[in-house]
Amino acid sequence: MKILLSNDDGIRAPGLWALAEGLKGTGEVVVVAPDRDQSGVGTSVTLHHPLRMRRARSLAEGVSAYNVEGTPADSVILALRLPLVEDVGLVVSGANEGANLGDDILISGTVSAALQGYFYGIPSIAIAIADTEDLKFDAAARIASMIAQKVAEESWSERFLLNINLPNLPAAEIEGVELTRPGRRFYRDEIQEGHDGKREYYWLVRGDTQWHNEQGTDIWAVRQQMVSISALMGDLHSPEHSSFLDGLCPWLLQCLR
Ligand code: MN
Repeated sequence: MKILLSNDDGIRAPGLWALAEGLKGTGEVVVVAPDRDQSGVGTSVTLHHPLRMRRARSLAEGVSAYNVEGTPADSVILALRLPLVEDVGLVVSGANEGANLGDDILISGTVSAALQGYFYGIPSIAIAIADTEDLKFDAAARIASMIAQKVAEESWSERFLLNINLPNLPAAEIEGVELTRPGRRFYRDEIQEGHDGKREYYWLVRGDTQWHNEQGTDIWAVRQQMVSISALMGDLHSPEHSSFLDGLCPWLLQCLR
């Protein structure tokens, strides 16, 4: 199976290459990712100027890589439409440095790269670690490769979009794997004003985060030190498709042990 791997933290991010190492045992991995950090750009696509793409240095043996002067969504569209890799069986985005929980999903570049895969009819997953320092990618790499293995073994071709968040823990310390619904986590952005000598400027900064820690949500699961899996798009809960989710969580937990 061929796997397209992207992210929003940029092509040098360690989380991307941790997933590349994990996934390359399951399929042929091609990395197409933004050339710099594009966190928070959401579903943005570049329509007002041309895009450039270059072959990039791969940090995983056997994996080819391209960087794009553009957004995560641009990267996946270029990869699929050129096509840099034909017959993609799975699109993976991440592993992001920082959670994509609740309302984050709507502004997440990580989720947006996977969303493009979904738009093109491909099973797609977004993966994030719910922390920003001293990140442990081992469990994320294993979860990604187990899902890739399941997609490959079942020749699963129905599109879906899974948003996966992990607590920042070694695999053995993860308490569970749960199917969740997106919770509510939102920011009150603040503005820092200044003057650069010529003009005034305004700098948007993330202010207080407000959390709703309701049971069954992605926020709740990660706070319980569990992996959260939310099916965002695709009718995976319908009777025809539920076979993909049936037993998925216990099986993934077993694989982490
Ligand atoms: Mn990011």
